[in-house]
Amino acid sequence: MLAARVPLGDGELPASFCSRLALRNGCGSAQDFCRDVSIIFREVVNGAPEALEQLAELGGVCAERLSASALRRTDDMFVAGKESLSRGSIRWGSLLVCPDCLAEDAHCWKELNAAAPYVRMVWQISCVLTCVRHDLKLVDILGADMCVSSRGLRRHDTARLIIARGNCIDKGRSARQHSPLERYVTDRLAGQSEGNWLDHFPLYAAARACEIVGSVAIHGPKIAVRTMDDVLRFHAGATGYQILSGGPDHFRSFLLESRTGERRRTGDPGVAALFGQLYNWLASEARDPVYQPLREVLREVALESLALDAGEKIFGLPIERRRFYSGLFRSRGNRN
Ligand SMILES: [Zn+2]
Repeated sequence: MLAARVPLGDGELPASFCSRLALRNGCGSAQDFCRDVSIIFREVVNGAPEALEQLAELGGVCAERLSASALRRTDDMFVAGKESLSRGSIRWGSLLVCPDCLAEDAHCWKELNAAAPYVRMVWQISCVLTCVRHDLKLVDILGADMCVSSRGLRRHDTARLIIARGNCIDKGRSARQHSPLERYVTDRLAGQSEGNWLDHFPLYAAARACEIVGSVAIHGPKIAVRTMDDVLRFHAGATGYQILSGGPDHFRSFLLESRTGERRRTGDPGVAALFGQLYNWLASEARDPVYQPLREVLREVALESLALDAGEKIFGLPIERRRFYSGLFRSRGNRN
C-alpha cells in the first residue's frame, strides 16, 4: 500500500482515483504512475477487474467499491454496477464536471490540494447534462482542448485536466434544474429505482427511448432522431421520461395523440407516416429486442388506427387478418 493516498469518492471513476493517486505521489502523469506500479492504465479505464484490484490494494480502498463505479467494457457493451450501457450511452468526446461538486471536494479534503476534486461516473453518461445535487449544467473540460485527443489516454488523467481547466470550470458555472430523466439515471446507477415501467428496460434503452419519444413529442414525427445536440437531448429526455415512466397506457395515449396530429396534416397516412421517425427508429436503428415492449404498444395502436389488410407488415411481421379499426385512417396500401 502506498504511503501517500487519497480517499475514494462516492461514485468515483477508477481512472479519476488513479489520476489523483498519481498526482498525490508526485508522478508526471497517471500513465507514468501506472508504469511505475506495474498496472496498465488502459485497463483501469476499461474497468478490468484485475487492474482495479491492484489499484484498490495500492490505494488502500475497498476493491468492490472501486469496481462499483467503473464502466467495465465487455464485448460490445459496458457494465456499470448492475446496469448495462451501450457504447452510444456513454460520453466519449468530452469530459463533463460539476463546478460545485469539485469545489466541495476541495473544501472537504483541503489537505489534498489539487488531488481532492474527483470525476463521478454518472457524468460520463450521455443523457446526464446537469448535476442533480446542485442543479448546475455540467461543464466540458475536454472539448475545447484540441491538444488532448479524445481517443488518447490523457483525457482520462482527470486530476491534471481539472487543474489545467480551472478557469473554464469557473466560467462555465450555469444554473439549470435537472430533468427527471437525469434524476432517474443517477438513482439507477446508485442502485435505486422508482418502480416504473422504465425499470423493465436496460438503463441504456430506458434513456434512449425517453430521448427518442421526447424528441418526437416536442418536434413532431419528422424530427431526425439519430443525432441530437445537448440542448435537444436534455429537453427530449425530460419530455420522454414523463411519457414512458407512466407505463404502456401513457405511451399508448401519446401515440394516439401523435396519430391525430398526423391525420390533420396528411389525411391518409401509412404506418410509417403515422408515427414517423419513432416507427423508423424502432423498425431499423433499434432492432435490439429490448425495445419490444414499445413495438408491441405501437403495433396495437397501428392495428386499431389503420385499415390494414392481411399480408401488410408492421415491424416486418405480416398482419394475420384484417382487424377492427377505429376508421380514422385508411392505409396508403389499401387505396384502389
Ligand atoms: Zn454538483
